Amino acid sequence: MTEQLFAEMLNLGDKWEVSKLEVLAEQSCIEVTIKDTAKLLEGMECPCCKRTDLIIKDHANERLWDHLQMWTYKTVLKCRLPRALCKSCKKTWTIRAPWEGVNKHSSKDFEALALTLMRHMPVSKVGKLMKVDDQKLWRILRVYIDKERAKLDWSELTRIGVDELSIAKGHRYVSVFVDMENHSVLFAADGKDAQVFEQFTEELYLKDGHPHAITEVSMDMSPSYKSGVDSNMRNARKVFDYFHIAQNLNKAIGKVCSRERRTKGDIRNLLKKPRLFQKNRDKLKEKDQQTIEKLKELNTATAMAYQMRLSLQDIFKTKSEIKALLGLKAWISWVHNEVEKEMWKYFLNPLKKFAESLTKHFDGIIARWRHGTSNAVLEGINSVFSAVKRRARGFRSKEYLKMMLYFTKGNLTGIPNLIPSK
Ligand SMILES: [Zn+2]
Repeated sequence: MTEQLFAEMLNLGDKWEVSKLEVLAEQSCIEVTIKDTAKLLEGMECPCCKRTDLIIKDHANERLWDHLQMWTYKTVLKCRLPRALCKSCKKTWTIRAPWEGVNKHSSKDFEALALTLMRHMPVSKVGKLMKVDDQKLWRILRVYIDKERAKLDWSELTRIGVDELSIAKGHRYVSVFVDMENHSVLFAADGKDAQVFEQFTEELYLKDGHPHAITEVSMDMSPSYKSGVDSNMRNARKVFDYFHIAQNLNKAIGKVCSRERRTKGDIRNLLKKPRLFQKNRDKLKEKDQQTIEKLKELNTATAMAYQMRLSLQDIFKTKSEIKALLGLKAWISWVHNEVEKEMWKYFLNPLKKFAESLTKHFDGIIARWRHGTSNAVLEGINSVFSAVKRRARGFRSKEYLKMMLYFTKGNLTGIPNLIPSK
C-alpha cells in the first residue's frame, strides 16, 4: 500500500513499481527500491534493428540516485536496471531509468530543485540544504551548461562587447565577451591580453559565427584589446563606451584631489573624501554639496575637475552625434586651456592626460553615437559579475566563476528552473 503510494508520487507509470521501502533512521534516509514490471517491454523496439522481439536478459548491478528530500529525510532511489536482449539481432542494452537526470546518480526532480536553488543562493548552501556534497552540484551544473552551450548559434552575431573582470584582488582576470543585442554573456576567456580574442574566435567558429562578421566591439581603451581586435576581427569598429571612460575620468579626478590634499594644508579637511567627486550631482548629500561650493569659492583644482566631470557627463547624454562631436572637442580644449594656467598646471595634469587619451581614441568614442551602443551593457555585466563572485563564494576556481556567469547570464533557456522569473 505504502509502496504504491510512493510509486504514484514518483510518477512511475505501469512499467516500474516500488518493491521495497526502508527507513534508515540513523542516517535520516529513506531508501526506495524500484523494479521493472511485466509491462516494461510493451511498445519498446530494438535500438538497432527496430524490431520488437525483445526479452529481459538479466539485471545490472544496483545503482543509487539522489532524490528530493522527504521532511528531514534524504531520499535515495535504488534499482537494478534491466538489460534487454533483441532476439532478432542479439543486441543487448541496459534500459534507461526514466527518473534519471543528466547525472547518473541523481533524479531529474532532484536536479531541477538543485538548479533552481543555485540561482538564488551559494552552491555550498544548496549542498547543505539538500544533504549532498556541493562538488556533485557543480558537476550537475557543468553538464547542463555544456549541453545548453553546445546548442548556441552565433551565426547572426555582429555586435559584441568585452570587459576584463578581476577574480582575485588585482591578480587574475577573465575577459567576458557579451552580445550587445541581447546582453547575454557569450564567452569568458582566461586573462586580459590580446590572446583572449583568439580564444573567443575559436569558440565563434564552433558556434557557426565568423570573426569577419563582427562589425562592432565595445570595450575599454586598453592597448591589448585593441590589438586583439585588429588581428582577429578586421571588419570590426572599436567602440569605447562611457562606462570605461567614466572609470578613467574618476581615477584622474582622484589624482587631482590627492595632489591638492597633499600640498594644501589649509583645505585638507575639505578634500578628505575623494570619492565625493566621483558622484553625480543628484547623489550628493547637502553637506557634500556645501563642501564642493566652498572648494569652488576657493578656486581649487578639485572643484574645477568636478565641474569638468559634470560637463563631460552632459556631453555623453546628448543624442546627436554632431553635438557630441563638437562638445567633446570643446571639452578637450577647455581642459588644455585650464591646465596652461600656472596655478593649476601641476594639479590638473592627470586630467590633461585623460583629455589626451580622448583625443587619441576620438573615433572609437564618437562611434557609440553612430551605433547607438548602450553603456548599460558592460556596466550590467560588471554588477552581475560581483553577484556571481558572491554566489561562487568559497570557490576560488576560475572555472566555477565562469560556470556561474554562463548560468546566470548565458541565455541558456534549457536549464530547469522551477520558479522562472516571467
Ligand atoms: Zn535488434
